[in-house]
Amino acid sequence: MLKHVAEGVLVHVSEFIQSNSIVVQGRDGVLLIDPGITGDEMAALANDLRELGRPVAAGFSTHPDWDHVLWHPDFGDAPRYGTARCAASLQDLLSHADWEARVAEGLPPEYADEIPMDLLGLVTGLPAGATHIPWDGPTVRIIEHHAHAPGHAALLIEDRRVLVAGDMLSDILMPFLDLAAADPLGDYLAALRLFENVADAVDAVIPGHGSVGGAGQLRARIEQDRAYVQDVRDGRVPDDPRIGPSAPLDWLPDVHKWQLLRLAERQQNQTP
Ligand SMILES: [Zn+2]
Repeated sequence: MLKHVAEGVLVHVSEFIQSNSIVVQGRDGVLLIDPGITGDEMAALANDLRELGRPVAAGFSTHPDWDHVLWHPDFGDAPRYGTARCAASLQDLLSHADWEARVAEGLPPEYADEIPMDLLGLVTGLPAGATHIPWDGPTVRIIEHHAHAPGHAALLIEDRRVLVAGDMLSDILMPFLDLAAADPLGDYLAALRLFENVADAVDAVIPGHGSVGGAGQLRARIEQDRAYVQDVRDGRVPDDPRIGPSAPLDWLPDVHKWQLLRLAERQQNQTP
């Protein structure tokens, strides 16, 4: 089922950690951002689009994590885009003979059988520094940054005043740092500043996982993510409901502890 977010912007929510697939209506077809998780869900979404008379004109993956780079044959063979660094990261993954096993290790066991791997990651990189998605529809600005994953991009659908955030600005997930990056905490704070710069142009924020935030929510979510990152950086215990005793996802406090551990290990290794 597709939910209305703004004029010509719809969302399909997966039952897997409230993953949002975003549909943007263009002149003749739609832009499909982060297509979905299970085969059945994607087939149903393709069917909904067919009934609306809106074929998929282009796809976009906000970042190279498996849950954002799946595809279903029923979506057709529209071009699938990502940033240059997102596509390079996927090409690197797919160049390994055992890529499927590597991805399978990270899949949630209860969904693993329903996640189609055949068309995973077949993303064409846009030119480095590309500022817009090339397609026949509303202008979609690419806000690329270094937080969470290589080549991560948020998308600003300018005329619709919607920010598609990828895996940030979620009401259910605290910041997941890119622990392989040179400066995971600094990168995260820098990306939040980029979102702050466009906040006046946004009425709705769609996170990769979680609820769509309405007017005013963007700044609140930026503040919540920033407080978490700064607390982690400065050695404070974050007062963050997403990892508190009544966290909506009971496994998140463990991810938080794991992040702290990894950051501490990195610091130890960097000390001469
Ligand atoms: Zn995700």
